[in-house]
Amino acid sequence: KVAIHWFRRDLRLYDNTALHHALSSGLPVIPVFIFDTDIISGLPEDDARISFIYSLLKNIQDTLENTFSSSIHLYHTNPETAFIQICNDYDVQAVYTNHDYEPYATERDTCIGNFLKSKNISWHTYKDQVIFEKEDIVKKDNSPYIVYTPYKNKWLEKFDSSLLVPFSIKGNNFASIKKKFPTLTEIGFKVSDKTVTPYDLSSIRINNYEETRNFPAIASGTSRLGPYLRFGVLSIREVVQKAIEQPNKTFLSELIWREFFMQILWHFPHTPHSAFKPKYDRIPWRNNEIEFEKWKKGLTGYPLVDAGMRQLQQTGYMHNRVRMVVASFLCKHLLIDWRWGEAYFAETLLDYELAANVGNWQWASGSGVDAAPYFRIFNPTTQITKFDKSHSYIKTWVKDLQELSYPTPIVDHKTARERCLETYKKALL
Ligand code: FAD
Repeated sequence: KVAIHWFRRDLRLYDNTALHHALSSGLPVIPVFIFDTDIISGLPEDDARISFIYSLLKNIQDTLENTFSSSIHLYHTNPETAFIQICNDYDVQAVYTNHDYEPYATERDTCIGNFLKSKNISWHTYKDQVIFEKEDIVKKDNSPYIVYTPYKNKWLEKFDSSLLVPFSIKGNNFASIKKKFPTLTEIGFKVSDKTVTPYDLSSIRINNYEETRNFPAIASGTSRLGPYLRFGVLSIREVVQKAIEQPNKTFLSELIWREFFMQILWHFPHTPHSAFKPKYDRIPWRNNEIEFEKWKKGLTGYPLVDAGMRQLQQTGYMHNRVRMVVASFLCKHLLIDWRWGEAYFAETLLDYELAANVGNWQWASGSGVDAAPYFRIFNPTTQITKFDKSHSYIKTWVKDLQELSYPTPIVDHKTARERCLETYKKALL
């Protein structure tokens, strides 16, 4: 008789809610991870996220093997097939896992939960990747907050440091079953040349965050925790603990933005496809494919936009300030559908996160939650004066800036701005 802990976006062996409960169940626990073919089959074979996940699983495997004489069981199929196999191979009594709020994941979990219940196997799921989820933070009339500041105020009001107490892990309750750990090639992938920047929670990245976070040339100006939060390498409780220890609460506010967008996606699962404000779906996007290609390649002739797009292409990361500028440029200067930009970021960002990506793209296009008036259009040139005065960031990524081959601007700023205002105004009448 065994219990299963199903790892998804919680790839760590400490302060893990569902794993804590599984190990406290009294049953030997088999840790499982499924490379879900429904998700990964369309990815390029050198996808950097897969390399990253693989390296995280290898670390988990090494600890399980060396410290607890156990193993993680990896499957490379769709979750339903994996669970049929797991239930054939073992006498499974219970399955433990942490919540995932994306529409695909909630549907998948309902399906797996029903399958397990039909076999009399108990199914236990827990909040783990956020401090507040689903309906934890709602208005007096029980409706969700759709504006960030009141959401944040309520979040802070409800917050209590007891919510940060870590969930202990009883390692000796892992099942003593050794399993071969497959190579990356056996899963159909190869090592990527893009790597995730290591994090240092105790570093200056959080200490001086307020002063440094808006300047893309300062490499350590933000935490670079994105991928670690995305895959749950770090516990959110630990990160929030660090954030509340800071005299300045800006970093905490960013973590609250993350939860804000997660609850928006959970309450409004249609938003990856449709604008939160439906009338914005009336905008007649120009969707010029040649211009879209130039934007992707960093060949718009606007140095800050090009620097950001080249940083993204080469490293899988782009600074937040520049993400805002390139997204605004695509939706407003080029009048290209935010969904195109969202999809390209989804392919390329190492910290890609559906809720944050959709939320921020809709914010950039003016079509989402919160107040983002469409007539506020970033000027990609004055943004340089404000945030990259010495051109240090631009020069790092746009080496051909002074060369004759560097493109002339794809659109004139003033003309594009007026075209955008006119188009939006007419569509939103
Ligand atoms: P820090 O500034 O150190 O922030 C710490 C953490 O707070 C981040 O890792 C992230 O988890 C969270 N956070 C910060 N800002 C935001 C925000 N605006 N919305 C939601 N969470 C936030 N973030 C993603 O995690 N995944 C995405 O796919 C993503 N797509 C974006 C698309 C656009 C168009 C824009 C404008 C922003 C996007 N962001 C996304 C938000 C933000 O740019 C990144 O979280 C941040 O740049 C990651 O770097 P960092 O870890 O150093 O962030």
